[in-house]
Amino acid sequence: MKNIMFIAPPAAGKGTQAELVEGKYDIPHISTGDILRNISKEDSELGNYIYETLASGKLVKDEITYQLIEDRLRQKDCKKGFIIDGFPRNIEQAYEYDNILKKLGYEIGNVIWINIDKKILEKRITGRRICENCKTIYNINDENSSPKIDSICDYCGGKLYQRSDDNLEAFQTRYAMYQEKTEPIIKHYKKKKVLFEINGDNSIENIFTEIEKIINK
Ligand SMILES: [Zn+2]
Repeated sequence: MKNIMFIAPPAAGKGTQAELVEGKYDIPHISTGDILRNISKEDSELGNYIYETLASGKLVKDEITYQLIEDRLRQKDCKKGFIIDGFPRNIEQAYEYDNILKKLGYEIGNVIWINIDKKILEKRITGRRICENCKTIYNINDENSSPKIDSICDYCGGKLYQRSDDNLEAFQTRYAMYQEKTEPIIKHYKKKKVLFEINGDNSIENIFTEIEKIINK
């Protein structure tokens, strides 16, 4: 089993794929967001600092994040492989991540890049509708997943709504951030020959099949 890092633009389904990999291969899914949120509940100097930083919408200092990730990766359950999620967020963090792995005697493993055209993501985002009752997700821009009757759930007759952050403007901001910060990371791992590109314009099942092929290699 190799360590896995996912890279993908917003709304490309990275979280779903990480969950599928976690379930199938029984390796820990290391989310920096979860680590920070857990520690913020502790009544300690570090816990208080993280709580206040997150509450104010600021970013936790890099040195602290690095130490927490190192501590987590040192734990026994990571020795057989792990999925890292939400980190590294920029090229400086990628360099430091490589250093941490080296220090622990771990390999980078597979960096899986779910690549998908921006226009397709825009259609996904603006067309997404959710049933307020059973939470089924539809897409009115995709004939394979649009409801039979506009704004009514096929299964339960509930009303469909659009999430407030599923709008073009919020997406453009997140996408611009992704391009600026993530493209250098992609180049970096490409050079190291650990990057695998997957076409993200595909069903969840087909994307997962491609990921399995990479992992099982
Ligand atoms: Zn429904």
